[in-house]
Amino acid sequence: MSEVRRDILTDTWVIVQTETTEIPLNHRTPRKPPSVCPFCVGNESQTPSEIFAIRAENTLPNQPGWQVRVVPNKKPVLRIEGELSRVGVGIHDKVSGIGANEVIIETPEHIKSLHTLSAKQISLVLKAYRARIIDLYKDKRFRYVMVFKDYGALAGASTIEHSHSQLIALPATPQQIKSELSGARAYFEYKERCIFCDIIANELEDRSRVILENNLFVVLAPYASRFPFELLVFPKRHAFSFEMVTAEEITNLGEVLKQIMQALYDTLSDPPYNYVLHTAPNLLPQRDYWTTIRDDFHWHLEIIPRIKRTDGFEWGSGFFINPVAPETVASKLKEKL
Ligand SMILES: [Zn+2]
Ligand SMILES: [Zn+2]
Ligand SMILES: [Zn+2]
Repeated sequence: MSEVRRDILTDTWVIVQTETTEIPLNHRTPRKPPSVCPFCVGNESQTPSEIFAIRAENTLPNQPGWQVRVVPNKKPVLRIEGELSRVGVGIHDKVSGIGANEVIIETPEHIKSLHTLSAKQISLVLKAYRARIIDLYKDKRFRYVMVFKDYGALAGASTIEHSHSQLIALPATPQQIKSELSGARAYFEYKERCIFCDIIANELEDRSRVILENNLFVVLAPYASRFPFELLVFPKRHAFSFEMVTAEEITNLGEVLKQIMQALYDTLSDPPYNYVLHTAPNLLPQRDYWTTIRDDFHWHLEIIPRIKRTDGFEWGSGFFINPVAPETVASKLKEKL
């Protein structure tokens, strides 16, 4: 079981696995991929039963014939069963460890890197993200669905090398999202405009941090990038939630991601990385509480290569030291496109 505990000083949530018997010594354990890859086509019986799949007509669940497959994580950090309860523990708060932890298997073939998939295949992965968010947001217990990808050991990836991403549906909105939401709301109250639309317009005028622009998407190195080669991918069309992404945008984003991930691979020699989808929280349990969210928030994808370790000063201060200026990042990546 897990509990979701809140740090009352900083309002951050921590998932605490209360029944761990074995202490994970990840820094000591040699990494070895499993001898049989559970994500390859033909090995469907090696994973829990599928929740969702994009598959050929007349093919059965948990059988070959799929292009993208979503299954529960075998070792979930949160459990889907149970009621959502909030409890005070002395001066502290905790929420029951309710949630969902799903794995999105991005291809039936044993391919390790996202950029080697076809743009069309990447679009199918994005389609699966959207379908899962829409479905999970029907459940009032889930306040936020975080879709993310870990690639490489230094980015926290599992030993399974077959290209996959994950999602975790959470019983509370994470602090990272809350601070973006409140920044966006404060800006909107003052200017009556979406801060993200303004950032996009400003960057497109300046050009020095723009890496890629087409009719639907913009890829930027953010002005105050925390990490070297941190990138933001924005849809040009204002939309607060990834649920609203159109078929045309999904096709286009597949091409954009393929190009950008290839450029990162070439420039940084196959870097470990994370990406996270920042979308709006589930409005179903809190319909009235955020009246301007549709106008003030703008979904985006954050890509963070993990080529520099976070040091003590950065952990302790929240000040990041970035050894590569975003303007340099933009000019280096543009050369590869
Ligand atoms: Zn495989
Ligand atoms: Zn906007
Ligand atoms: Zn963000």
